[in-house]
Parts: sequence; structure tokens; C-alpha cells
Amino acid sequence: MTDRLLATKESEKGYPLADTDCLFCRIAMGEIPADLVRSDPEVLAFRDINPQAPTHILIIPRRHIASVSEMTEGDAHLMGKLFLMAKDLAREEGISPGGYRMVVNAGSDAGQTVFHVHLHLLGGRGMGWPPG
Ligand code: 5GP
Ligand code: ZN
Repeated sequence: MTDRLLATKESEKGYPLADTDCLFCRIAMGEIPADLVRSDPEVLAFRDINPQAPTHILIIPRRHIASVSEMTEGDAHLMGKLFLMAKDLAREEGISPGGYRMVVNAGSDAGQTVFHVHLHLLGGRGMGWPPG
């Protein structure tokens, strides 16, 4: 099946078109397995493969946006959804009372390694400041 056909198949499900070369798009399309925590038509949450805290969840838009540096006014609602889902998951994971951290790395100096916007939700341990 060609990339174009895969993308068409996703759009028929009501999901936006994806970049089939992107790891997180492929997770969103179900091509690469992930430990899913929450899913809706616009936003997906799954556990980080290399957790840096007892709870480490990544929350992503299904639509491919490479970095927050590329976001526009039209993405404001979507980004709000990422934070609201993260807040709900923090409560469900039991890390809300103790406190938790949300992180978005933007660009290589910040440590961004996957160029599909993602919000890290980390908690379950004490954290230092400033981050490394
Ligand atoms: P970044 O450094 O770009 O902010 O974060 C990328 C995150 O994606 C890292 O924490 C890394 O462990 C995670 N990651 C990379 N590849 C995979 C994968 O295939 N599956 C999952 N679940 N997480 C991944
Ligand atoms: Zn992507």
C-alpha cells in the first residue's frame, strides 16, 4: 500500500492526514505499537518508551505539526486540548496531589528528538530545577 493510500484511509476514518515518515504519526495511525493511555479524534496519549519518571506519558495531536515553532493561531484549540488531557491523566495516574511537570521541547538545543509536537507529562518523583 502506498503512503498516499494509507493517508487516505486515515482521512476516511475522520482523522487528519499524517506524515507517514514520522514516528508519532505512525503511532497515531496504529502502524507502530504503543502503550496507549487515551485516544480521541484529535489527540492521543501513550507511555514514553524510555520513561524518565514513574509516570511519563506523551500527549500528541494526531495531525502532524513538527514543532511548536510551526504552530499558528489555528492550532490554539488543539494545544489547549493537549494540556487538558495531560491534566486529566495526571489525576487518573494519582500524581496530581504531589505535583507533576509538563514539558515541551522545541528544537534540538532543547532536546527535541521527535519532530511531531508532543507534551511530556512527568510525575511520581521529586524533580529539580532548572532542568538539564
Ligand atoms: P523529545 O526528546 O523529542 O522531547 O521526546 C521524544 C520522546 O519520545 C522521548 O522521551 C523518547 O523516549 C520517546 N520515544 C521515542 N521513540 C519512541 C517510541 O517508539 N515509542 C514511544 N512510546 N516513545 C518513544
Ligand atoms: Zn507526525
